[in-house]
Amino acid sequence: MSQPIAVFPGSFDPITNGHVSIVRRALPLFGKVIVGMGVNHTKQSMFTVEQRITWIREAFANEPKVEAMPFEGLTVDLCRRVGATFILRGLRNSIDHGYERSIALMNRQLSGVETIFLPSAPEHGHISSTIVRELLANKADVSALVPMDLRSIR
Ligand code: ADP
Repeated sequence: MSQPIAVFPGSFDPITNGHVSIVRRALPLFGKVIVGMGVNHTKQSMFTVEQRITWIREAFANEPKVEAMPFEGLTVDLCRRVGATFILRGLRNSIDHGYERSIALMNRQLSGVETIFLPSAPEHGHISSTIVRELLANKADVSALVPMDLRSIR
């Protein structure tokens, strides 16, 4: 039987080592993981859609089972379009858990798509795109937190 397809949705503004680790660890479970970069016109992002997608693709350039695509609208609609039967999410702490649980139950009710959670690796539990943006805005070194070289934009 062929392995299922998962969608890993997020803003990825920008992608971090925490995101990369979740996708890599989930790969043995799935035939394909589609990193769905949510485009939300009402939410201001630091980086453009093109820039965010490019960094995701570069991070997984050596992983033939990973694809990246921007999407608008509901994650479950993206799942239907690409034939995904699972959503993948990472959990850093109990705050993530409470929020993610409601969304996962809603997505299952809407579409039957189940959500698989992986706990963040201990070395990544403190990393978030929000913190990376804040550090960049203050010209700090983020090289230990992200897979790409951001020195030029400091
Ligand atoms: P969103 O805006 O939907 O929260 P993010 O890009 O911030 O999107 O995160 C996408 C997914 O990656 C979420 O499931 C989030 O919990 C997970 N994630 C983010 N940072 C980490 C991390 N450091 N370790 C593990 N999972 C993470």
